[in-house]
Amino acid sequence: MKEQIDKIRTDFPILGTQVNKKPLVYFDNAATTQKPQIVIDTITEYYSKYNANIHRGVHFLSNFATEATEKAREVARKFINADAVEEIVFTSGTTESVNLVAFSFGETFIEKDDEIIVSEMEHHSNIVPWQMLCQRKGAILRVLPFNDAGELEIAKLPELINSKTKIISVAHVSNALGTINPIREIIKIAHKSNIPVFIDGAQAAQHITVDVKELDCDFYAFSGHKAYGPTGTGVLYGKKNILEKMTPYKGGGEMIAKVSFEKTTYNSLPFKFEAGTPNYIDTIALAKALDYITDLGLDKIYKYETELLEYATTELKKIDKLKIIGEANHKSSVISFIIDDIHPSDAGTLLDQMGIAIRTGTHCAEPVMQHFGISGTMRVSFAFYNTFEEIDYFVKSLCYVISILT
Ligand code: PMP
Repeated sequence: MKEQIDKIRTDFPILGTQVNKKPLVYFDNAATTQKPQIVIDTITEYYSKYNANIHRGVHFLSNFATEATEKAREVARKFINADAVEEIVFTSGTTESVNLVAFSFGETFIEKDDEIIVSEMEHHSNIVPWQMLCQRKGAILRVLPFNDAGELEIAKLPELINSKTKIISVAHVSNALGTINPIREIIKIAHKSNIPVFIDGAQAAQHITVDVKELDCDFYAFSGHKAYGPTGTGVLYGKKNILEKMTPYKGGGEMIAKVSFEKTTYNSLPFKFEAGTPNYIDTIALAKALDYITDLGLDKIYKYETELLEYATTELKKIDKLKIIGEANHKSSVISFIIDDIHPSDAGTLLDQMGIAIRTGTHCAEPVMQHFGISGTMRVSFAFYNTFEEIDYFVKSLCYVISILT
């Protein structure tokens, strides 16, 4: 992949731009990724030539857009190797996917005093919807802790499970620590007690090959905008037999079979969960993004990003007073760190003056910050279009920033 980088970078127009009169170094890929030209062009092309509301037309444009949307569903199915397109629900992102399942699964299966397990390293999106469900139903949220290296204390999972446990929801990869969690093991433990597992793949699907059949997870969610696709897109996978039993999330057009004032019946999967006019053009463009990364090869992407991660980790560790937060054995290309006496946002602002985009703060994972007794971190997160030269420039710039601030 290293040899292809120059060519790959030209596919992403924003990477050729300048910020504060310096070439952009974009190290905020865990927050959102940049878009290849094919994604940008698809959006323009569909609005220019093929736009009409889907699923309800008899005319050419509507049929064309409908067909493209359903082809996109097939692309998403293949991307995560789901059994059937009925199991692929398009959402606006991982946040909506968690909310959908927390509501619909919750309405159907959760009763007073039932228990839900999440981990201590979850993004707020994978905590708050479950808390809201607990409040609605009088259920209890249990938390699987992680150790100081940032690894889940998996040995404690069987102790947390009991006959009241109804679902377990964990991140595939932590956005704050970079940890790749042992989800296969979690799923196996959960399934021994017939407990379904929701995997938050927001930080995983664009970096690691995901095979939902092989994982045997019950739900898997990822966000389109983190996978080089448009904002406002997302994919929720759910096993057909569970989705079928779940009550709809939102009511409206398209999610119904028949409506009368006496009785409404619901549409088949996946449309039961897609009320209203969906974000079809962005979804069609998302499929182009998934095709793009599939063509590059997720195994190649993972290998190259791991090389970037290892190089950056080694270089950052040479910096005096810098501490990496999250040193799990198995990590994705995310590095959170703190530096003695330096406020993350001061460093982030100065790096921005040098054209370098990093993220600072709690990364929507306040419990992770509470675990370490810190108020926030600096975070760099790499994509396959990043380079070793960018890391060198970043490390040099960071050392300069430290010399100014201390
Ligand atoms: N889970 C994780 C692990 C995340 O990193 C994020 C986004 N930062 C989300 C969920 C929420 O994703 P979105 O904002 O795209 O809905």
